[in-house]
Amino acid sequence: MSSGSNKTPHAGSVAIFYITDRGRGLAERLAGYYPAAETKKYSARFPSQLWKKDNTLVFIMASGIVIRTIAPYMKDKKSDPAVIVMDEKAQHVISLLSGHLGKANQKAREIAGFLGGEAVITTASDLNNLPSIDLWAEANNLVIENWDMLSKVGTKLINRGTLSVYDEIGIILPPEFKRVDDLSHADLLVTNNIYDIDINSCGLSFPLAGNLSAKAAGKDAGQAGMTKQGKINCDTSGKLILRLKNLVLGIGCNSGTSEQEIESAVIKTLADHNLSFLSLHSLSTIDIKKNEPGLVSFAAKFGLDLQTFGADELNTVKGVTPSPAAKRATGAQAVAEPSALLAAGGRTLLVPKQKIGNVTVAVAKKTERRRKMEYGKIFIVGTGPGSIDHITPYAQKAIRGSDSIVGYGTYLDLIQDLIADKEVVATGMTQEIDRCRKAIELSSDGRTVAVISGGDPGIYAMAGLVLELLKNQHSESGTRSPEIEVIPGISALNACASRLGAPLMHDFASISLSDRLTQWETIEKRLYAAAMADFVIALYNPKSKGRTEHISRARQIILQYRSPDTPVGIVRAAMRENESVIITDLEHMLEHDIDMQTTVIIGNSKTLTWNNLMITPRGYEKKHQFRTNE
Ligand code: SAH
Repeated sequence: MSSGSNKTPHAGSVAIFYITDRGRGLAERLAGYYPAAETKKYSARFPSQLWKKDNTLVFIMASGIVIRTIAPYMKDKKSDPAVIVMDEKAQHVISLLSGHLGKANQKAREIAGFLGGEAVITTASDLNNLPSIDLWAEANNLVIENWDMLSKVGTKLINRGTLSVYDEIGIILPPEFKRVDDLSHADLLVTNNIYDIDINSCGLSFPLAGNLSAKAAGKDAGQAGMTKQGKINCDTSGKLILRLKNLVLGIGCNSGTSEQEIESAVIKTLADHNLSFLSLHSLSTIDIKKNEPGLVSFAAKFGLDLQTFGADELNTVKGVTPSPAAKRATGAQAVAEPSALLAAGGRTLLVPKQKIGNVTVAVAKKTERRRKMEYGKIFIVGTGPGSIDHITPYAQKAIRGSDSIVGYGTYLDLIQDLIADKEVVATGMTQEIDRCRKAIELSSDGRTVAVISGGDPGIYAMAGLVLELLKNQHSESGTRSPEIEVIPGISALNACASRLGAPLMHDFASISLSDRLTQWETIEKRLYAAAMADFVIALYNPKSKGRTEHISRARQIILQYRSPDTPVGIVRAAMRENESVIITDLEHMLEHDIDMQTTVIIGNSKTLTWNNLMITPRGYEKKHQFRTNE
């Protein structure tokens, strides 16, 4: 992919191991598709530094060898790399480990697509065409709290085909997930809140400092119902819990406060308000505390960013509780509350300042800017005339690297193997505008979207339409636009010309006979001009069921300037299974089947036929060196 693109189809490094010479040949071929791939001769001493999340390890050898090699390194699905095994002939490309989060399934399909083999996928959700919960969570920035429930709830989804979801964030759900209002009926919760107050945790999977648990909130409350503080109390065992990382903590502390004390104060604040630690996005404070050792090491321990603001900036925030002590010490009206609000970009606090020993903590919810800020990318991809072999490797990579695919049924059918695991939005032939709008909408959510066009995307296809819609959207509202990359494909013109020999060797004009978007008078004018100027003429969209007369009108016009024996090539379904190629002439061309899968190429006054091929001479015959036999 271009180095300038912000989301390349492949992240992480790719290492390809082989044993035999034939394996090495295949490894080198595969490496051609992955610019940064390394090929390595397999040895029993596996380079353990490669065992890293985001890496892809491809082994061209027997699966037994691979299993024995990787067994000592395997940890869990959160951190293991994608492991793929394939045979030397690339007949079977097996996704062995980390099918979902490691993307081994996706990569096995991709590799099978590149090498012409079959991907072997064994994860049940893929086989049943159901969403994978972990991939969906990752795509929506949700953190899984109780990994032990993932496979149980996943099995429920596979057995029942649907899941009940209680969601407080307003996340987009796949169609198989049904929203429920009563959390006790949900299989899956998307929330920042802790509802099960009897569980001695606030989302932390490590021992809690001082055992400040969520119990503090409502230890006298019953098994279900409301706690003393008016919070819902519900038994969440058996439910999968997902957290959105969107809470920002504002923290103030006296100099020299220990990491331990800060941690305890944070845990107590969250627990008292039934908020999950896993929902923490970042910390914020006043700039003079940016090197405060306890605060810095607390942030580092949990991998949280620490954002700081100057006193002047903190003093611009309205509606916070003033702190005379902070004013005396720092010049700021307060620290915890205004820094939380500034960092979160919001106006209201979720939890006002809590003073616990030497620490003050306030909590604000980060405002949802994802939709506007993080526009994704749109690839407008040309998939050529038909078979996958005629799609460029670059275009294949872009398709494989996209989250969503938007296109028209027939073209999508032709590339089924490349997109089997993708979210696909298919619309009918005449709904191009809907398709482009949908692509823009999907990309506004941060997704990478491939808009599929047959042939070349910039020739009677989708590229112009996407750009026009974006241009209009931009001038209407001044909103940001997604990054766009147009990826060329082999147009019908190239494909059909190649089947006919060399008809386009000299100047040519291409004219679409469809008057759906262009007035027929304009089309006629262009036919006259091209015929008169002796251009070779390629006719796209020559004839449809409801529009049969245009091709004969075009022929009449061209016959006014060209002889009836001018060669004409009629190519139907080029590079597809039902391809047909006919070479005839202007006089007889209408005797052959012509439809919307056909392109007609009409020679110029010099075009000749030889050996059932069309040749439009370029002029070499006039040059001395051409006449070698004379
Ligand atoms: N973007 C496409 C053209 C779309 S217009 C491209 O660059 O090829 C649709 C027209 O293209 C069809 O009516 C037909 O005239 C032509 N066409 C597309 N695929 C074709 C194929 N495989 N064989 C012959 N003509 C084809």
